[in-house]
Formats: sequence, structure tokens, C-alpha cells
Amino acid sequence: MAKQYETVIGLEVHVELATKTKIFCGCSTAFGGAPNTHTCPVCTGMPGALPVLNKKVVELAAAVGLATNCKIHRFCKFDRKNYFYPDNPQNYQISQLYLPICYDGGIEIETSTGRKTVGIHEIHMEEDAGKLIHDEWEDCSLVDYNRSGVPLIEIVSEPDMRSAEEVIAYLDKLRLIIQYLGASDCKLQEGSMRADVNLSVREAGSQTLGTRTEMKNLNSFKAISRAIEGERARQIELLEEGKPVIQETRRWDDNKEASYPMRSKEDAHDYRYFPDPDLAPVEISQEWLEEIRSRQPELRAEKLERYKKEYEIPAYDAEILTSSKRMADLFEAASALCKRPKKVSNWLMGETLRLLKEEGKEPEELDFSPEHLAKLILMTEEGVISQTVAKEVFEKIFRENTEPEAYVEEHGLKTVTDANALRETAKQVIRENAQSVSDYRGGKTKAFGFLVGQTMRAMKGKADPGAVNRILKELLSQE
Ligand code: ADP
Ligand code: MG
Ligand code: ZN
Repeated sequence: MAKQYETVIGLEVHVELATKTKIFCGCSTAFGGAPNTHTCPVCTGMPGALPVLNKKVVELAAAVGLATNCKIHRFCKFDRKNYFYPDNPQNYQISQLYLPICYDGGIEIETSTGRKTVGIHEIHMEEDAGKLIHDEWEDCSLVDYNRSGVPLIEIVSEPDMRSAEEVIAYLDKLRLIIQYLGASDCKLQEGSMRADVNLSVREAGSQTLGTRTEMKNLNSFKAISRAIEGERARQIELLEEGKPVIQETRRWDDNKEASYPMRSKEDAHDYRYFPDPDLAPVEISQEWLEEIRSRQPELRAEKLERYKKEYEIPAYDAEILTSSKRMADLFEAASALCKRPKKVSNWLMGETLRLLKEEGKEPEELDFSPEHLAKLILMTEEGVISQTVAKEVFEKIFRENTEPEAYVEEHGLKTVTDANALRETAKQVIRENAQSVSDYRGGKTKAFGFLVGQTMRAMKGKADPGAVNRILKELLSQE
């Protein structure tokens, strides 16, 4: 019988923290910006420049630790991880090796095979590196230090996951916790959340771990799943052929659906870690820790419970709405404004999800204001606009955050209360102005304006110009 293999996976997840300024200087952490404009002597590693720790980084890191059931090292330190690469101007990265801020935690995940806890070995604080841009056309490499010194936490899991499904469930849960805490937006595409996958295989039933590889460059859940399948197959094939798996870092190429060796895996001693002499150890007092704990916002489980009690929406809706912090925020804000939670939920569950899917976007990327959705709902309820028009206007809100009242006004989308009266009037105007009608049909667009004016006058100005336009066009296109 063919041998059975088990996949063993542990993740190292880097998350950029949502602070305004960098971890050791006052430079902006804003994404983008002209290259090398968010920089200073500290984050470009000038000799003699000294780092000063950003207090907010400690608070966010500790908050993530508390929310993932970690213990907190109330006395923790920063260490230098030495390596030489142009994205790292100091020639060392300030990180934590010996005493990371959080340790020994874990989160519960749920998959088709049931519930289990994935252990978190530690969470440490560190600084991000700059970005290298390799310009093959000009045959040169450029460096942008805007990202250098942006605060990161690295969340190191235990090797507790056994399948791509478990990995995705773990990442999804972790991301949601961090987003709810407001500690990061966790966008895989923009790199504010990055996962390195450590994977080994072993014969089913074996208690010892096999040799692992580490895969980098995974910027979507799909890429992560494919990389896991690909690497598992590659390692099993090696073992079947009696060849060893080499411990190394590999780069996943999602287009080719294959991984390539990047470098042999360094051990901690290769980095010649030592305590950073420029930074004092961090002491987190009991009071400070309690303060951080007390600031913890409502997390998903509590929110779900509250939704079921507070709003009259189905449990299924509550599940979907709370699966994204952004959606939940929109839902609550819009419901508070229009007092129609079920209607708000319908717009989010229906049209919003449909449009997101169409554009290949995540709920976290939603960026219309709750005021606009609330107003749209009220306008529909009051019969100012029809359902069909509401859908059209919603698309504008979704894509451009358009203000619905002004848009409806401008485009004459208001429901004509007495549509029959308007239609009859328009017909009469057409009958009485045969010359203008034939001018219009002959291509004189000015004649159309005259007909609109006549209809408006006959309606004593109370008709909606947009509606008059539409009805006239419709009538004139007949026959
Ligand atoms: P390093 O610091 O050298 O990268 P760590 O021991 O910190 O190594 O582990 C890094 C990650 O790799 C952790 O998430 C851990 O769970 C995972 N890991 C370690 N050994 C294995 C293994 N044999 N198979 C799969 N994952 C592993
Ligand atoms: Mg590591
Ligand atoms: Zn700086």
C-alpha cells in the first residue's frame, strides 16, 4: 500500500501596525507617497541617529497578544538582527529575539473537520525594511525607504496546522481579530499583512517533524492555498524518491504555480543577534496593561450576540455582516441614522456583496459613507425614488460615494407622483407642436428643448425635468 503523508504547517505572519508614525522616529507611515519622502536620519540609518520607541506600538502589540490569549512579558527588550542588504540601511533590523512582548497564546479555528486551537508561540515587535525596485529595463535597482521603520508585529504560530483549509481559517480569524482591534487593516495585496508558510511532510502516525521549507511572497489566500498544495506534492515526491528535503527559503511563483529556492535557511546564529544598546528595555506596568485591556473594543463574538438581540435581522445576516469590521461599522452607522436595520442589511447583503464580487474586492475595501446609504433608504421608503432608481443610485454610491439626494435631483430621477398626468400632457404637447416634432426627428436637437419647455409650462413647473425628458424621448421614439 502506498504511504500516507501528513502535512505540518506553521506560519510566520507579519502585520504592519496602524500607527501614524514609525516605530523609532516621527516619520509618517502612510502607504505610497513619493519615494524617500517619509524619511529622516533614524529610519535611513545615518550614523549617530538614535531610535526612540513609539509607545503606541507597544500598546497595539500587547492588545493583539491579549486578544489572541497570549501571556505578556512585562519586561521585554529589543535585539539587533544583523544582515546586509540595501533595503536595510542600518545593516541590522531592530527586532525581538530573547524576550518578545507576547508568548504562549493561541486561537480557535473552525473548519470542515471541526474545531481546534492553533498555538501562537510568540508575537514580537520589529521594524519593516525599505523597498527595492528592480528595474530590468534600465538595468538598475532603486530603493525607497518610506517603509523603513514602519512598525510590524510578527506572529509566530506553532506547527499546528495540517491543511490549506486550516491555514486559511487561521489567517482569516487572525485578520479579523486584528482589524476589529483597529491594530491594522491587514491588506494582503498592499502588504500590510504578509504570511510566510513553513511546511514539512511526514509519514502519517509519525511523531517527529520532517524537514521544513519556508515559502515567501504569498499575497493572497488563493496563492497561499496553491503554494501549500504545490509544496506538499514536491516534498512527498522527494521522499518517495528517497531524496532529502533541504531546509531552505523558497519563493512561490503564483503564475507558474511552482516554488524556487531563494536562499538556504539561516539559523538564528547567522544573524548574530545581540541586545540593542540604543534602546532601554520596555517595562509594562500592571496598570498600563490593565489600561490596554480595558480599551479592547467589542470583538466579533460579542458583536454577533449583540446584533441578534439589538437588531431584527436573521442570524445569517449577522454572521456575514460581522465577518468584516468595515461592513459591521457601516451597518451600525447607517442603521443608527435611518433606523431601518433590516433594510441596511439587505443593501449590504445583496447589492454590496454583488458589486464587491463583480469588482473582485474585499468588504474591507468598502469606502462609501453610511450617511449616503441611510439617505438612499429613506428616499426609497418615502417614495421619492423607485426601487429600480434606488439600485442605479446605489451603484453610484458604491463606486464614487455619490451623495444620493443631489444625484437624484440632478438626474431627474424622482418619481413623478402623477405619471399619467405628465404623460397625457406630453402627448398633448406633441400633438400641438407638429413642426417641432418633425424638426426634432429631422435631427434638430434644439427642437427637443422647446418641447421640454412647453411640457414644463403646461405642468406649471411642477414636473420633474428629468422625467419630462425621459417621457418625451420615449414618446418621440415611438411610431
Ligand atoms: P526560525 O526562527 O528559524 O524561522 P522557528 O522555530 O521560529 O524557526 O519557526 C518558524 C515557523 O516554522 C514557526 O511558525 C513554526 O511553527 C514553523 N515550523 C518549525 N518547524 C517546522 C516543521 N518541521 N514543519 C512545519 N513548520 C515548522
Ligand atoms: Mg523565523
Ligand atoms: Zn524617520
